[in-house]
Amino acid sequence: MPTAREIESALFEWAPKELAMDWDNVGLLVGDPEKEIHRVLVSLDITADVVEEAIAMGAELIVSHHPLMNCKWLPVQTLREDTPQGRMLRRMARADVAAICMHTNLDAAEGGVNDALLRALKVVDPGPLTEERIGRVGWLEDGPVPLAEFVRRVSRALGCNGLRYADAGKPVHRVAVGGGACGEYVGRAMALGCDTFVTSDLSYHDFLDAGPNGINLIDAGHFPTEDVVCREVIEGLQWRFPELQIQKSASHREVIQYYVEGD
Ligand SMILES: [Zn+2]
Repeated sequence: MPTAREIESALFEWAPKELAMDWDNVGLLVGDPEKEIHRVLVSLDITADVVEEAIAMGAELIVSHHPLMNCKWLPVQTLREDTPQGRMLRRMARADVAAICMHTNLDAAEGGVNDALLRALKVVDPGPLTEERIGRVGWLEDGPVPLAEFVRRVSRALGCNGLRYADAGKPVHRVAVGGGACGEYVGRAMALGCDTFVTSDLSYHDFLDAGPNGINLIDAGHFPTEDVVCREVIEGLQWRFPELQIQKSASHREVIQYYVEGD
């Protein structure tokens, strides 16, 4: 059976470490590199529930997209039982569960987050949205289609609870996607001639400016726009290591709910 180190190497061959942003923290972050792995749990995030799920299924390794510590938004200075993060990391260490995180390197990688998003939305002929290869632009395979129809497609394809969007009054044909929080690239999508941008975590002002700027903006949620990559991770690992038992987390799902008047 492969070791944690061998699985990390295989994932880095796909999504090289050099593609990660400098504030990021990717690779084998927890565990013994020489430990033999039989079962793997794949999840967008590592939460306390995901750790319990891994332990219950006998998984020695969790592979996630978001780093479980020491990236831009999750500094870890202590490993204390009286903090949620410390408790979770201590639980993982005691149960000998390893963690490999593939984040902005997997956003940029061929066949990573953004390519998975394109595939789900039937956008073809992809090119990069940014110089760092974060995000993609392409053409809607069956476009142009009315925005309302495309919004329905996005929601269904990504399994959204609901989504927020602004209509710039044009049909959808040239589409930019940015899995996760890519609001800073709206201008870039416009400069590349896109009529529509699908991303997440957009602000009120992003939406307010969308109409005058002539771009349809769709905020399909952080979880839905990135969770699509889990399937690619599972397929890639299973192809490389057919002997591994690999499962997608059943406990981790979208936490954001939408209240709609009249429901
Ligand atoms: Zn993300």
